[in-house]
Amino acid sequence: MKIGFIGLGNMGAPMAVNLARAGHEVTGFDLAAPCPDGVAKAASAPEAARGAEIVITMLPNGAILKSVAEEIIPAMDKGAVLLDCSTVEVEAARDAAAACDKAGLGFLDAPVSGGVGGAAGGTLTFMVGGGEAAFATARPLFEIMGQKAVHCGPAGNGQAAKICNNMILGITMIGTCEAFALADKLGLDRQAMFDVVSTSSGYSWSMNAYCPAPGIGPQSPADNGYKPGFAADLMLKDLRLAQAAAEAADADTPLGEAAMRLYETFVESEDGKGRDFSAMLPRFEKRGRSR
Ligand code: NAD
Repeated sequence: MKIGFIGLGNMGAPMAVNLARAGHEVTGFDLAAPCPDGVAKAASAPEAARGAEIVITMLPNGAILKSVAEEIIPAMDKGAVLLDCSTVEVEAARDAAAACDKAGLGFLDAPVSGGVGGAAGGTLTFMVGGGEAAFATARPLFEIMGQKAVHCGPAGNGQAAKICNNMILGITMIGTCEAFALADKLGLDRQAMFDVVSTSSGYSWSMNAYCPAPGIGPQSPADNGYKPGFAADLMLKDLRLAQAAAEAADADTPLGEAAMRLYETFVESEDGKGRDFSAMLPRFEKRGRSR
């Protein structure tokens, strides 16, 4: 397939490389990042998009997606598909879908879970919103870049699934970290705490697969000085998107809001910036009830 790839950062570059290695003809563009080996370099976003059957975007936020979409839609061939894999507002995805529809193009929002490791290893999970025909066109590419693609319904539903998942993740990580910090103060050994909770009703992905306590459970960023992994900054971004969506839909999400506030404080007023999101544990360790 002839593929345009716009946004060759931490996630986009390895995804584009995997497509090129699988034999697709990939032309890439990024404002700043270098073009990786195997990907042809375009001089602009419209140049990367021209003549492509699918144009993939992997960009920082919804405002940038909007401006890139405005640039590339007029350059794309009728019937081609714009596949946005960035994490953006549900509304930004639905707006891009409407603009594509008006121009005779397909659109899919397909945010990912799996991080940089999943992008490099081709093991991402895609949560996909958009039409059946566009999904069928993109499916072989999902199989190269990832291990699973779930079609969640019309445009925007991929983003909806992503922010709901990550709202649960942020909440459970905070709960797991505050429980470890409480256990410490009660004199409960961390290994004993893990052995009980990981096989009891308090278990979760945060405890069992990504344990925030160093030296306990499988290897995780806690064993690497809390180097991300999944950065607290990115968790904050996703929790803010969840709150924006909850606001727009009039959904009551008190724990999602509390999690957003905690990550906001951690990243913006404390030492959370650039650390893994599980570094909430050393944060709680240092604190008492008087804050
Ligand atoms: P990144 O900042 O490394 O990459 C984004 C790239 O977009 C940068 O190289 C930047 O130069 C480029 N860019 C910005 N504006 C542009 C424009 N107008 N035209 C062309 N290129 C432009 O970010 P990332 O970590 O690769 O994340 C990309 C997206 O994936 C984000 O939406 C993020 O929330 C999501 N995501 C990231 C992770 C992760 O672990 N990094 C995990 C899941 C989802």
